[in-house]
Amino acid sequence: MSERLEVFMFPCLSDNYGYLIHDPIQDVTASIDTPDVHAIEQALNQNNWKLNYIINTHHHYDHAGGNLKLKKETNCIVIGPMQDKDRIPGIDRTIEHAEEFEFGSFRVKGFHTPGHTTGHMVYHFEDQNIAFVGDTLFAMGCGRLFEGTPEQMLDSLDIIMSWSDETMLYCAHEYTQSNAEFAITVDGKNKDLLKRKSEVDALRKKFIPTIPTKLDIEKKTNPFLRSDDKEIRLELGMMASSRSEVFAEIRSRKDQF
Ligand SMILES: [Zn+2]
Repeated sequence: MSERLEVFMFPCLSDNYGYLIHDPIQDVTASIDTPDVHAIEQALNQNNWKLNYIINTHHHYDHAGGNLKLKKETNCIVIGPMQDKDRIPGIDRTIEHAEEFEFGSFRVKGFHTPGHTTGHMVYHFEDQNIAFVGDTLFAMGCGRLFEGTPEQMLDSLDIIMSWSDETMLYCAHEYTQSNAEFAITVDGKNKDLLKRKSEVDALRKKFIPTIPTKLDIEKKTNPFLRSDDKEIRLELGMMASSRSEVFAEIRSRKDQF
């Protein structure tokens, strides 16, 4: 298909990003999560799009809190992870792990990625090299483990790692600058990371979004994707540890950062 999926991104709440996606062929629109009803309505009006679907990544209020109001106003269909069906307000259609479904004329696949919550799901438009990763992966970071184990989160991040290096990752928060500050504490000799940190600092000085990020850049600079990296292991004194032990150590250091 030569047509591209359109993504309209807008900041909302204190540090969230809202996303509308649009299929220009069939004139179909979805909101990825519902962080802020007012901001979503504005974005719809601005583009002259009508909301057909809500696609939820997980149940947290800054992701699904606007579901019922938007559903009432637009009669849209709410799609979300099977594992979160009891916690996502207004859910109409559940998606199972690795299930493919249609969004207009595009194919999208949902992947169950527990860790941040037990029900979290990410959505991959493989032939578009676009994915919506909610609070599973952030630029140079990953979601806090509210409900899952380090092993689960590592498995979830490995799913994302298996995609094309060209994949553009749309995460739900602008945490990039503070994530970079943490990343250099465990991976301070990484030249790609140091270079990226100065690029990010320059962007944020002008309040320019650092999202989306690209998977190949994350592989080089995100410590949570680099638990087998020798320099990080040396820094942590964990040369012989398993990947999940290294990951757990990085995550717990970040929690205290
Ligand atoms: Zn969350």
